[in-house]
Amino acid sequence: MTAIAPGAPGRPSVPDARFGERLARARSLLGPRGVAALLIGVGADLRYLTGYAAMPLERLTMLVLPAAGRPTLVAPRLEAMAAAISPAIRAGLAEVAPWDETDDAHALVARLLRPEASAGGRVLISDRLWAMHVLGLQRALPGAHVGLASELLREIRMIKDADEIALLRTAAHAADRVVEQIVAGPLVGRTEVEVSREVRERLLDEGHEIAEFAIVASGPNSASPHHDAGERVIRAGEPIVLDIGGSLDGYCSDTTRVLWVTGGDPAQGPTPEYRRLFDLLQAAQAAATAAVAPGVPCERIDAVARDIIAAGGHGPDFFHRVGHGIGLETHEDPYMVAGNAEALRTGMAFSVEPGIYLAGRYGARIEDIVVCGPHGPDVLNQSSRDLRVVAG
Ligand code: ZN
Ligand code: ZN
Ligand code: ZN
Repeated sequence: MTAIAPGAPGRPSVPDARFGERLARARSLLGPRGVAALLIGVGADLRYLTGYAAMPLERLTMLVLPAAGRPTLVAPRLEAMAAAISPAIRAGLAEVAPWDETDDAHALVARLLRPEASAGGRVLISDRLWAMHVLGLQRALPGAHVGLASELLREIRMIKDADEIALLRTAAHAADRVVEQIVAGPLVGRTEVEVSREVRERLLDEGHEIAEFAIVASGPNSASPHHDAGERVIRAGEPIVLDIGGSLDGYCSDTTRVLWVTGGDPAQGPTPEYRRLFDLLQAAQAAATAAVAPGVPCERIDAVARDIIAAGGHGPDFFHRVGHGIGLETHEDPYMVAGNAEALRTGMAFSVEPGIYLAGRYGARIEDIVVCGPHGPDVLNQSSRDLRVVAG
């Protein structure tokens, strides 16, 4: 088993200058595509472009990035101080335009844009913007043609730079340490919810600021890919699918390992049938990971795992895509799924997580975060992918 270093105090981070590069890059794509402006609300796009992890509120916070002119961060007055200390603002890359409680924030955005966007121009709004703000902006910009910002930002955000990869690696290693702590037991006799709560606490102790999910799926529950955690008591002689993750300095972790609990009784070890299922899955996960290289279509990664599982007689029991991109969001582009012919490029980060699920009986999934390196896969997770037999 790989030894995992404890969390170091000198954490990687994204330097302020990087936000200037990202803003410039996004802006450089506006003119050639006939886009008047990007309108970016609270969420991962805003954090990516400015470093500002704004609170999601009914009050509008929005980066207005016009094709020409300075970027402006429209923010409610009570958030203006928090906005001012965010990386892009403190680095002088954008200005804050505060609005008061009785102001019309959507009209303020429209005033910052005119005349480019009002007369039939195209504006791209962040994909996850709340409908109330979308409708408000459409009222304030009646002439504008509205599209999704991902049209432009996905290709920028999909390719992670060295700082982002360092953060994803730090998050992955923190999650790996939590896996090892849970594998140390005890598990038998505890409820899934109790173990799930322990996972969340340990994710925070290991440096995550948010413990987003802690799937603890024991016995027959392991056949449900997104079983969360319930009151079921964990018993000796059954598997547990542990799928955990959160975010560390904004960057997400997401890893799945399979445990088998014996309660210390050797007679309660993994059944030969479960071993066979697990070995098939492990071979599929390893082969899909090994297939990662620049130029390989995303759907190929899915197919490699799927072909092996199908050849082992479990094709219909693997009924989800093999992976999703990951970064500032747990699920983002690119997706490793049939039909996505997009070629992998150096710097793309995504999960490789095939699963086999036998309803009413049990299931298994193994998940790593993998970065496409210049010559092949860079696997961020380091904890053992074997079936982890837990005595306690
Ligand atoms: Zn999932
Ligand atoms: Zn997961
Ligand atoms: Zn995942």
